[in-house]
Amino acid sequence: MRAPVVVTPPPAAVPTPAPAPTPAAVAPPASGPESAALMARFPDPVVRYATPAFEPGRSTFTSNAELQAQLRAIVREAKAAGVRAQLLVAGVSQAGQPIEALLLSRQADVSPAALRASGRPAVLLIGQQHGDEPAGAEALLVVARSLAGGTLAPLLDQVDAIVLPRANPDGASAGQRATASGIDLNRDHLLLRTPEAQAIAGLMRDYAPAVLADAHEYAALAPYLERFGAVARADALLQYAMAPGVHEFVSRAAEEWFRRPLLDRLQKEALSSDWYHTLGAAPEPRRVAMGAPRPDTARNAAGLRHEVALLVETRGSDLGRAHLARRVHTQVVAMGSILASAAARADDLSRLRRFVETETASRACAGEVVVEAAATPSEYQLKLLDPASGADRSVNVAWDSALQLQTLRERARPCGYWLAAGEREAALRLRGLGLVVQRIDETGVVRGESYRESGAAVPLETVPALLDVERGSWYVPLDQPLAALASAALEPDAPGGYVAQGLIAGGLRGVARVLARPGFRLSTLP
Ligand SMILES: [Zn+2]
Repeated sequence: MRAPVVVTPPPAAVPTPAPAPTPAAVAPPASGPESAALMARFPDPVVRYATPAFEPGRSTFTSNAELQAQLRAIVREAKAAGVRAQLLVAGVSQAGQPIEALLLSRQADVSPAALRASGRPAVLLIGQQHGDEPAGAEALLVVARSLAGGTLAPLLDQVDAIVLPRANPDGASAGQRATASGIDLNRDHLLLRTPEAQAIAGLMRDYAPAVLADAHEYAALAPYLERFGAVARADALLQYAMAPGVHEFVSRAAEEWFRRPLLDRLQKEALSSDWYHTLGAAPEPRRVAMGAPRPDTARNAAGLRHEVALLVETRGSDLGRAHLARRVHTQVVAMGSILASAAARADDLSRLRRFVETETASRACAGEVVVEAAATPSEYQLKLLDPASGADRSVNVAWDSALQLQTLRERARPCGYWLAAGEREAALRLRGLGLVVQRIDETGVVRGESYRESGAAVPLETVPALLDVERGSWYVPLDQPLAALASAALEPDAPGGYVAQGLIAGGLRGVARVLARPGFRLSTLP
């Protein structure tokens, strides 16, 4: 384990307030979404990409059928180049489309057990969780092909790669953000309501990647025009896992080993970047927030599993095919940088994982668990562009910084959680996340706490209790590496947790905190 490094300072405060936006500048240019001067700020890269979307005369993105054919072609190309490539069917979408990934490795045995036992870190790259953000899938086809025999292939001497170019094929074919049922895939990584989220959880459970990179796109025009009379400038918005329960060493690794080299790499390619953020709505349109500390996004759920998890959002989901080559190039550069960092830090990542897993498991029955946290209010200078002239414009905004999280609510960490016998569905979802879940095989009594509603100031309180645990009910121990994920799911007042989302049928009576190591017979769910 390397010595702890300096904690990232928050973005510098900006002293002067910004001028109010001028409504006259809000009107978009009549000729198209972007003026010629604005377009000129984003020249195409020199490099040419060859996914189906870039075929001459094309007006659409790579289709699901084309993507499937491409993955099979890459498997053949890898074989010719001496790289082991295996097509993984991670799941089937709600509309019946296969959710396919490529595993790329130089190891002889590419079974999940053998890869995990090798100690070599795996890097999971995910694209297009949101169907209307196409650059990620196009870029990950380029990256997979490069790993299979191009310039990225030498990195497979240090790491294995799993590339899932299109996590939401139904959304992609419909040109919509959400999955077919309307559920946002990138809010479903704790509850696993959708087969798409279950597919990603399965890859994480089976291959235990050390690193996740999650490729998205952001809307660069209308949201910024509405609030600031300007448009977004950054080619890439970046953030790593920031949620209560993410181990501080994992955060530091994300900052030191991954984000800083990534900033250098983007700068060398003349691509601009900023922290990922979302824009405020009325009544606070000038308030801007970094990605929230909720546990159900891919990056934060991965962070709770001790993956170094990075979000890369390119400009922009509201540009149609404009600047597509530059958007794809930005993702290719970012994913290449993340893979290179993982290869350079392969031994460090393996040591980090062993240490953090052991330490997390050792914290059961001790210390505090943060149930809810909030970003810290600060100020920030957003670098935007004038929509007509394309000139740089800065605006000062109120900024919710997720780099420093403030604890809103915490309580003593239990030894584990008890679930009533009727909560089988919750037990299976937790198992789907890779948690150890045990069935209680004999009726017994254990010291614990139940939850009850209380006054307005403290919405929930815990009540000391001797818990009568019945045969057939469930126990989720916290002396396991994924304990932080269990607390995020099972503390009833944790935002996005299983009780708040209605997955625990018995509500507050369906779950309790176990405060002693249980002495009754348990059998572990396979
Ligand atoms: Zn997205």
